[in-house]
Formats: sequence, structure tokens, C-alpha cells
Amino acid sequence: MQLHEYQAKRLFDVAGIKVQTGLLARTAKEAARAIAKLTPPLVVKAQVHAGGRGKAGAIKFAQTAEEAQRAAEDILGMTLRTKQTGQAGLVVKSVLIVEASDIDSELYLSIVTDRASRGPMLIASRAGGVDIEETAERDPDAILKFEIDPVRGLTDHACRRVHFFWSNGTFGMKDTAALLKGVYDVYMRSDATMVEINPVVVTPEHELLALDAKVATDDNARFRHPEWEAWAKGHDRDAREVEAEQHGLNYIKLPDGTIGCMVNGAGLAMATMDVIKNHGAAPANFLDVGGGADVEAVTAAFRILAADSDVKAILVNIFGGIMKCDIIAEGILAALGSVKLTVPLVVRLEGTNVEQGRRIIAESGLDCETAVDLSDAAEKAVAAAGA
Ligand code: GDP
Ligand code: MG
Repeated sequence: MQLHEYQAKRLFDVAGIKVQTGLLARTAKEAARAIAKLTPPLVVKAQVHAGGRGKAGAIKFAQTAEEAQRAAEDILGMTLRTKQTGQAGLVVKSVLIVEASDIDSELYLSIVTDRASRGPMLIASRAGGVDIEETAERDPDAILKFEIDPVRGLTDHACRRVHFFWSNGTFGMKDTAALLKGVYDVYMRSDATMVEINPVVVTPEHELLALDAKVATDDNARFRHPEWEAWAKGHDRDAREVEAEQHGLNYIKLPDGTIGCMVNGAGLAMATMDVIKNHGAAPANFLDVGGGADVEAVTAAFRILAADSDVKAILVNIFGGIMKCDIIAEGILAALGSVKLTVPLVVRLEGTNVEQGRRIIAESGLDCETAVDLSDAAEKAVAAAGA
């Protein structure tokens, strides 16, 4: 789960990382109340799960309370479109209003779970406030990157390394260490896969401040974080993703795709997406119905795909391994008894009892195309979607 900036900053505050004084507002009225409690100049920041808000006009500076009120009203309800949001964009449901800081310089800091080294990796840069990927390409020397041994934790030595890499002599070693240990603490305690501060700012008073905050947690750790339920409520999550979760489906909506996919197994689901791309179209989603998908799960999956107006054709790609194809075919028919599809359907079955499965579909009179292999299936789905 990705946390909003204001949520991540609460974790920062608990871990002793300095953040700006700020309040959350969901309506113009709440904004007025928040602004009355804060001292201008203020910064009004859209709370959406997308970077680059500054460039997209979703962060506004206000010298006075009146300006801040106007900025909050402008940003609340706006649709944000950036590289990360796709065409549809994200509607801003809340803003964080903070007391503006003066900035001497901007730095970058993150701890991420690194798959290659199978542990936490610290990344620091002297170029803050800009995309770290861009820095990596343009000026790799501006980045310091090293693994953290989770058994030893973040050592003083590691803090010194970052300090001497970062410091221009204006802030102290103790400030760097406090910030780094705070970030590592948040990373460990929240079962995070990423904690990123971009930028960390050095104020004219030589303080280190987390101006922005990004935290992503590992959903596999949910069982030991009852507080995440409440965090998730503050999210404007895709309603389809919520429904999928309730039925044990692994569903992720993807921007700019037209082919709804229903597949069993994550590997096959990814392969299906690749093959669709090879045929010149894009998948509208990732959907893994799982190995033991029953009628209820398949029904929910069809309902989710049917409710997505981006979907112009549905491709069902199921490999009958543990579940036999005839059972799957019956399941598809039963599911389509209760969900009405208005877009073309392509079905590819393979595996145990595949002949019976195909026969059941063919004899049912179901309005669908059948495919013999993955490539054939993708080709038919792409053609059906008119892509
Ligand atoms: P992002 O665009 O989504 O990454 O949002 P950030 O919170 O990182 O803000 C973007 C940029 O706005 C920062 O890199 C800063 O340069 C600037 N900014 C944000 N808050 C302040 C502030 O309080 N004072 C000043 N001077 N600049 C700010
Ligand atoms: Mg930022």
C-alpha cells in the first residue's frame, strides 16, 4: 500500500524526523479551519499517489491566508494528470496545508527493498527535488548507494558515509544521523518496501527537514499491522481493486489499456500482458484469479472487467492444471449466467481435460471466440477490441 504524504509524515513525526507544521483538509471549510491555525506563508499540496505534483500545478504557494484558501479550493477536486496517473488522471480529494520553509539546498534520501541484494538499500543524492532516475542517468556521481545489513542495522559508520557525501559543512553529523536513523526506523517498523524523502531540505537555520514523504508498505505484512485498515480508509482506491481484494483476486488496473484480462497464475498473467503488447495493444489490467478459482471468484472477475469502461474486449486465458478445463468451462458459463457482457469475449483454455472444456464452451452457445494458443488468443482479442 502506498501512503499519502500526510500519512507518511505522521510516521516521520513519530520517528523524530522533522517535518513542516501542517494540517489536512478535505473540503473548503476544513481548509479555512486549518489555515486559521497556521502561520503564512503556506504551501497547499494535493494528496494523491503521484509524483511530480509541483510541475502539474497541484502544489501552490500562498503568501497570505486568503491566497491559501483560494489555492485549496482550486486544488480540491482538480483532476491531476502526470506520467504516473495515465490518461484518466486522479481526482484530488484532500490537501495538506503546511507552513512554508525557506530552503538553502535540497537533498535526496531513500531506503528501498533491493531485490538483487535481498535487503534494504540506502540511496542518497546531492540533487534533491528532482527525479532520482534522471540524476542516475545524467550524473551518476551525485548518487551514493549502499546495502544495509538488516542484522547490524544502520550503523554510525553508514551515517558518517552519507554525511560526508552530503554535507557542505552547514549541518552537523548528528543531524544527518538522526534523520537516517529515523528513516531506517520508519522503514523497519512499517514493513516498508520504500521510504523516500525528496527533497530533504537544509534550511537557512541549518536544520534538515523532510519536505516531501513517500512510503510504500508490503501488503504481505498486513496481518501484523491492524492500523493499516485505518490508513487505507484515507485512500481513494479504485473501487474495482477493493472488490477484487474481497474475492481473493489479484487485480491491478492499468492505465491506457483496452483488453481486459482474466488469467490464472501470476506468471501466465504477465505473459498474457506481454503477448497483448506484442500484438500492438495494451492490457487494461492485470488479473490473476488464482489456482483454485471457483465460480464465485470468476463471477467477481467478470463483474470487475465488465464495469471497466476502458475494456473493449475480454481475454480469458486459463491453464487447467490442478483445476480441470471442463470444471473451468462450467465455471465460466455459470459466471456469465449472472454477469452480462457488452464487449467481445475470447477464451483460451489449455491443460487437463481441455477437449471437454472446449466442447462445453462450444455446445453452450456462448457468444465468444475460442483460441488455441496464447498468440492466437491475443491476436483475436486485439482484433475484437478494434485496437
Ligand atoms: P512533488 O512535486 O510531488 O515531489 O512535491 P514536493 O513536496 O517534493 O514539492 C515539490 C517542490 O516544491 C520541492 O522540491 C520544493 O522545491 C518546492 N517546495 C515544496 N514545499 C516548499 C516550501 O515549503 N518552501 C519552498 N521554498 N519550496 C517548497
Ligand atoms: Mg517530491
